[in-house]
Amino acid sequence: MGLLDSVFKKNISAAPQKPADVAKPVETKKEVKPVADKITVGYTHLSGCTGCTVALADNYAGLLTLLDKYVDLKYMPTLADARHIQKVDVSFVEGSVCINDKLAVEEIKETREKSAVVVALGGCACYGNITRFCRGGQQNQPAQEAYLPIGDLIKVDVYIPGCAPSPQLIRNVAVAAYLLLKGSPEQKALATAYLKPLMMAADKGTSACFCDLMTNVINQGLCMGCGSCAAACPVRAITHEYGKPQGERDLCIKCGACYNQCPRSWFSFDVVSAYESINETIMAALQ
Ligand code: SF4
Ligand code: SF4
Repeated sequence: MGLLDSVFKKNISAAPQKPADVAKPVETKKEVKPVADKITVGYTHLSGCTGCTVALADNYAGLLTLLDKYVDLKYMPTLADARHIQKVDVSFVEGSVCINDKLAVEEIKETREKSAVVVALGGCACYGNITRFCRGGQQNQPAQEAYLPIGDLIKVDVYIPGCAPSPQLIRNVAVAAYLLLKGSPEQKALATAYLKPLMMAADKGTSACFCDLMTNVINQGLCMGCGSCAAACPVRAITHEYGKPQGERDLCIKCGACYNQCPRSWFSFDVVSAYESINETIMAALQ
């Protein structure tokens, strides 16, 4: 049946259909969802702008593959109906915590209690980011003045920095978490190598700004002038002068992208030497 036929609901060229064809019942197939082997995932949304959610959605078909094959989404206020934080394998947390908001403080604590792995997703959850500039005094909650990265209230296992974080990084962490929890010993080893620098970032602390490059890279004689920091900065606060980064601190929103992107900060031989295998494994998983 062609397009016109379906639009006008009649076959304008073919011979009349046999009654038997018309009467044939349509077979309905019951969808089988192989949820048993999936990891369970939650998404706690605190003081964030939903940009991290959009970054997750920007995986397009990759997100559908994740949901289809690997992830059973138990809790996510934007996308699912569950009203209360659920017990899960992995929780992604977007946004920082307003410590003047009792509910937000309870939510982050409950997320930690109910999750085997907590991932701080995006600059606000990792480092406070733009919420570091909050001073309160605005209607209708003038007392809401203090915002902290989630690592100041709970133990965080993995950081995904960036404002917004890259869709590929979110996807890769989700696949790596799956391989870590459900994969073969080789896949677990690869996933561990991949996640290690992001776990080291979580251990390092909760503050970030352009100064990290100065104190930990440039002043240590480690900067090679590659420009990765400038490329990573979402607000173009970094220029290069005489081959070295120059920061415009009034522009810096304290997202931590530059330092984490710098190859002289978290350069991990584990990841770089296994890059091909890690990439192939993740790509194969998403087929
Ligand atoms: S990314 Fe690191 S090494 Fe490259 S220019 Fe910036 S500070 Fe220097
Ligand atoms: S300089 Fe740019 S990338 Fe670095 S922390 Fe500031 S805003 Fe983020």
